[in-house]
Amino acid sequence: MFVDSHCHLAFPELAGDLAGVLARMADARVEAALNVCTTLDEFPQVLTIADSASNVYASVGVHPDYTDTPEPSVDDLTRLARHPRVIAIGETGLDYYRLEGPLDWQRERFRVHIRAARECGKPLIIHTRAAAADTLRLMREEGAEQVGGVMHCFTESADVARQALDLGFHISFSGIVTFKNATELQSTAATVPLERLLIETDSPYLAPVPHRGKPNEPAYVPHVASKLAQLLGQSLEQIAQATTDNFYRLFKILEAKHQVTLQK
Ligand SMILES: [Zn+2]
Ligand SMILES: [Zn+2]
Repeated sequence: MFVDSHCHLAFPELAGDLAGVLARMADARVEAALNVCTTLDEFPQVLTIADSASNVYASVGVHPDYTDTPEPSVDDLTRLARHPRVIAIGETGLDYYRLEGPLDWQRERFRVHIRAARECGKPLIIHTRAAAADTLRLMREEGAEQVGGVMHCFTESADVARQALDLGFHISFSGIVTFKNATELQSTAATVPLERLLIETDSPYLAPVPHRGKPNEPAYVPHVASKLAQLLGQSLEQIAQATTDNFYRLFKILEAKHQVTLQK
């Protein structure tokens, strides 16, 4: 069984056919998915979807690319993260690729997320693009290693992967690792220890080969696992098992399930 550690089911491409998305996940042996939040406005829908399907979890956070959106405080994030279906803070991080100009607000937003994660003890989902040095610096300055988390849709160098691993973080690969021209990323993937590896779709974007260019969905995450199996010299079953176990351990799902039982 596989787990999609990062998808956006509240985006219209997927929200419009949620029943179909969930049915195709089951057919593809994808047993769970983490539905990732990108703005506070989107959060109620992210949570509603997670509440409606027992194998879909939620996060809370504001993506670094969003400018015209309510800015979260540490209190906002910790309050919303209290819901038992919310297992992570993010996605957060830095993205210097899409936006230009002084990005102090983006770094401040990232710091707020790390502080919130530390306060509520939930792991971080970190997005980094064209900003690896600052991302790692802020992670260190704010003590991100105290909660850990995942470097999602990883596209950076083996050196950046090593530094994130040293901070206790997991590395998640998306469909990008299946692309023919992603040779450097493929060599980097081969350096990540099995016990820190995660897989994701980041759907509805970035569909893996052989679906490249089409709308992506969680049912396609086994293609990422299959590529990693080839790169790491493991069987598909070993990659499936390791990435699934890593997901439940990192996001403390069994503990969360236990707490829900206790509350009833
Ligand atoms: Zn992202
Ligand atoms: Zn994302």
